[in-house]
Amino acid sequence: MKLYKEKIIQIPAVEAHEETRQVHIGMECDICHEQYDNTDEISRGYDTCVVSVSYSRGKDYGADGGRERITYFDICPVCFKHKLTPFLISLGAQPQEEDSSW
Ligand SMILES: [Zn+2]
Repeated sequence: MKLYKEKIIQIPAVEAHEETRQVHIGMECDICHEQYDNTDEISRGYDTCVVSVSYSRGKDYGADGGRERITYFDICPVCFKHKLTPFLISLGAQPQEEDSSW
């Protein structure tokens, strides 16, 4: 579940203008219900940690547009490693890993 919070933010394109808006600040894990604050994750420096469990389906008409529906779960890294991965392995799936550098 995505978490939102009202924050006063600067609108840079408009001189000295501030507004109160709902800002995405993190998520609550759909399994353990622990809250993860995206801003804390970013402030840790260069570390990255992203969990993505989703299913997307739709139509792509090229330059004429398209549509899709995405079904997803917000799952924390701990539950991904210790709950979801063992469950998927128990179903016969094998995890795949990929390294990248840039
Ligand atoms: Zn969790």
